[in-house]
Amino acid sequence: MSNGEQLNLFQQPNSQPPTPAEVDIELIPTDAKVPIPPGSYKTMEVLAKQCQSCQRCELGATRINAVVGRGNLQAPIVVIGEGPGQNEDETGLPFVGKAGQLLEKILAAVKLDSEKDVYICNIVKCRPPGNRVPAAEEIAACKPYLLEQIRLIDPKIILLTGATAVKALTGDKRGISKIRGTWMEWEGCLCMPIFHPAYLLRNPSRDQGSPKWLMWQDIQAVRAKLDELIN
Ligand code: SF4
Repeated sequence: MSNGEQLNLFQQPNSQPPTPAEVDIELIPTDAKVPIPPGSYKTMEVLAKQCQSCQRCELGATRINAVVGRGNLQAPIVVIGEGPGQNEDETGLPFVGKAGQLLEKILAAVKLDSEKDVYICNIVKCRPPGNRVPAAEEIAACKPYLLEQIRLIDPKIILLTGATAVKALTGDKRGISKIRGTWMEWEGCLCMPIFHPAYLLRNPSRDQGSPKWLMWQDIQAVRAKLDELIN
């Protein structure tokens, strides 16, 4: 009897040996008090799988889907929002409601393809009930996933949509109106705070100096910087 045949005798008919990814997940801390070490995830797939069963904070109890991200895993730009809303919770995809459609239009206006040039995700992966702002402890519990996403993608530019995203990633507590459109450096990566598309939906004016007009200035600056970095 060969070694392989002997081994088969000890396996249940349908049992498979654990894949490296499954072993990794078992070793990663699920308690929010225990930090997830950088480098824990070898692929976004493994990270996404863990998020679907994550209970590191209370948001895990009420979600339909954990909303991890969409877009190109090698994208030069990562867009980070605050958290999933109802549409996102139901579909498992970030920025798919009206704000997401506006984000697509803003990106397309400077020839950025949301499937090719961008990866889109949120600060917290599970929907805060009633679309409230995620609490500090929820942001802290979920942040290791975001940091790992950024590490895996290694973007040239990060766009932070709204003050919550800016504060959660960089610790900068200034209002978004004060800092939008300014480049800042975080962990060696260029970041730009921009208005959240949902804010633009509530402020439809296109007059000079309006939020939409300012967004147009900002996204053009992002396009120019990306061209400078990749050419
Ligand atoms: S929000 Fe993040 S930390 Fe909280 S349960 Fe969902 S995936 Fe886990």
